[in-house]
Amino acid sequence: MTKQRELIMTILNQSDRHLTADEIFFLAKLKMPSIAMATIYNNLNAMNEAGLVKRLHIDGVADCFDKIMEPHDHLLCDSCGKITDIKLPHLADTIEEELGTEIVDYELTVHYTCPDCRRPARKR
Ligand SMILES: [Zn+2]
Ligand SMILES: [Zn+2]
Repeated sequence: MTKQRELIMTILNQSDRHLTADEIFFLAKLKMPSIAMATIYNNLNAMNEAGLVKRLHIDGVADCFDKIMEPHDHLLCDSCGKITDIKLPHLADTIEEELGTEIVDYELTVHYTCPDCRRPARKR
């Protein structure tokens, strides 16, 4: 593993969020000022293909990267854009039952308003 890739992996592992390439670039630059955006992109692409990270495509949000490779789904807050993991272990079974056949994969994004945004807004 190259130093750059190790750094990207560390950044992802230390974060409890889903980071965009820009955010990873920003954090990587703090540790390795000479690192280039292209290096970040190339490594993320290679890591995605190698199954080390998962690239998330969510409508209306910049692509971000997930270090959790076990199947899970995502909640997207429509107010602040925060992405949270949600595990729905029986959903694949339910879909298969409904279809009567095995599925390969599915991608689910649940839109909602997160607890932070649901709090009553302060009066201005
Ligand atoms: Zn929110
Ligand atoms: Zn996730």
